[in-house]
Order: sequence, then C-alpha cells, then structure tokens
Amino acid sequence: MVELLDEGLGNASSVHGTGRRARALIDEARETIADALGVGEDDVLFTSGGTESNNLAILGTLDAAPAEMAVVTSVAEHPAVLEPVARAEALGRRVTRVPIGADGGLDFEALGAAVGPDPTLVSVMAANNEIGSTTNLARVRSTIGEGPDRVLHTDGVQMLGKLNVDIPGWGVDLASFSGHKVGGPVGVGLLIRCGLPSLSPRVFGGAQERGLRPGTENVAAIAATAEAIRIAVREVAEYAERTSSLARLLWASLRARVPDVRLNGPRIDDPDRLPNTLNISAVRGDSRTLVARLDLGGLEVSSGSACASGSLEPSHVLAALPIDSERARSGVRISIGRSTTEADIHTAVETLGRTLGEAP
Ligand code: PLP
Repeated sequence: MVELLDEGLGNASSVHGTGRRARALIDEARETIADALGVGEDDVLFTSGGTESNNLAILGTLDAAPAEMAVVTSVAEHPAVLEPVARAEALGRRVTRVPIGADGGLDFEALGAAVGPDPTLVSVMAANNEIGSTTNLARVRSTIGEGPDRVLHTDGVQMLGKLNVDIPGWGVDLASFSGHKVGGPVGVGLLIRCGLPSLSPRVFGGAQERGLRPGTENVAAIAATAEAIRIAVREVAEYAERTSSLARLLWASLRARVPDVRLNGPRIDDPDRLPNTLNISAVRGDSRTLVARLDLGGLEVSSGSACASGSLEPSHVLAALPIDSERARSGVRISIGRSTTEADIHTAVETLGRTLGEAP
C-alpha cells in the first residue's frame, strides 16, 4: 500500500495511462479476492467496510423488492445489521427477530416458523463478534428454501480469516466482509453478490462498482485489502489451530485461577466456535468497569461490540442468552490476535486473576 501511495495513483475512471494503471490494480484486486473466496469476479463489490456492505445488502435488496418482502434476522446481529433492519421496519417492513439458544446458536425451529409464504430477506451472521458462535448457513438455506423469493444475506465479517469461508457451500446470495478484520487497511469492505439478486444503490453518482457503489475508488487500500485477504485465507487453518490452542490455554488457566468464572456462548471444545473469541463473566461489577480496570493492568479487552461500549446496558447478545442479568452485565470479550503468544496468555491470566480477585 505504501509503495502504491508513493507511486502516486490516478483516478481509475480516467482513460490516460495513470488511470489505466489504477483500473488494472482494482481489476487485479477483484480477481485475487474472487479466487480466495471461490466466487466470480463479477460477484465482488468494493465498499467502505462491513457496515456499508450490510446496509447495501439489506436496504438495497428491500428497495429493489416488492413491498410485501418481509425481513427475518437474529437478535444477536451486529448493530450494522440490526440498525438497517430497524430502519426498514420503521419504513413499514414486517420484521421477525429470531432468538438464540444457550450456546449462542440460531434457533432453527424459530427460523423455520418465521419464514412465511411472502418473499423474505433473511440476514443472519456467519459468526458472532461477541461470543464466537457460528451459524450453519447451509442449514439456514435448507430451512428457508430456495428461489428469488428467498434472499439470504450473511454478515461474514467475523468469519473471514478465522474459519473457512465457503460462499458456494453456504448457499448465500449476499455476503459482507471487512478488510480491516484480516489486517487490511481500515476503509475497505466487500459485498459479495452471487446470482445477481436485485439491488438498489444507497448512494447515487457515477458508474463505479456497477453503479451500486459510485465514487472514486480508494485504489491503494483496495489493492492492500486483496493482499490481506489472500494471506488470511491461505493461512486460515494455521490461524484457527494456533488461536484455538491459545484460547483453550487461557480458559483452562483462568478457571484454575478464578473458579467461579463462566464462559458465555459456545463451549470451549465446540468444534464450530470461532477459535479466537472468548466471552467470560465473573460477576464482579459491570463489564465497563472491569474493562477499564483490565486496561489499567495492561490487558485490552472489550465489553460488548465496540459500537455499543459507550452504553451501560448489558450487551444485546449476552442479554439474549438464557443467563441471569448480573452475569450478562459483567461479560467481557477477549480476542486472541495474530501476534498473541503463549507468554501473552500467561500475562493475561495473571492480570485477569488479579483484577477479578480485587474487583468489588
Ligand atoms: N459486522 C460484524 C460482525 C462486526 O464485528 C463488525 C465490526 O466489528 C461489523 C459488522 C462492522 O464492520 P466495519 O467496522 O468494517 O464497518
């Protein structure tokens, strides 16, 4: 990215040489991403991030759909899905929010009951950012049925680079991703559109990205995102194995140190859970205070999704689990990163043990 910025890129819509070079870089990035994700080049749309991709997928589908198209989503989605769905509801769409079970997984019986005879857009996340549960999307597809009246979108932001992304196997029509979750620069997202479900743009302007996402492209960041995705997909098995063994070490050591600590969401040995995301409660005050105390101790964790961390309410995901409200209010999310080492895990357990021991 730095090399490309130094080179001084042109506008990819210009026909002169610098413009053509910029266009070629975008074409190459699209091809790299299509190869990595097993989709067609024409299926890849560049956006500014996961939030924009989700908004385009949901509001763009509904805008192009008949008025009777209903929406089915889950209670545990990221705000980048919950809010466009709430907007659609405010504009008159019928919306059903499907509950989750004790392990954070989607309630498939409720999903089946929620999809009626009307055309329906179903939007369910591939992996949950707070508790690390994942969704069997092939099962979602078989539950809701096929055809133009059954549009299936997934927010795949947390899945990319952590577990296999298999868009054809999932049977989704639309999938959102974000480059910065796999080490790319902030400001580039993807909406993968398979089988060309009808979509209206959210912003209007030029012909870039088939007119669905007009505006001059951020070429260097797009090229860097493609490289980040190529590496993340190539190394996914190694990443999953390494972070999952660190997560198990963290959980076992923490339980030995703080016996009443609880894991929220899927069990540690659930083979389908995200390998790197743990959500724990030890009922010692609210999660926000705990996050601040851990930060003072040098451990950076989060409470709920980043977008909700300004609020004192328990996270909507933990509130949706069948756990008591005190436990929900004390949940903190620990993410293991690409550069986390075993020594970091021991330090983290030490800090957690000390802080939880001292907390009121
Ligand atoms: N969806 C999920 C599941 C996320 O975790 C996030 C960000 O954390 C987003 C969407 C939003 O992505 P972005 O920050 O690229 O807009």
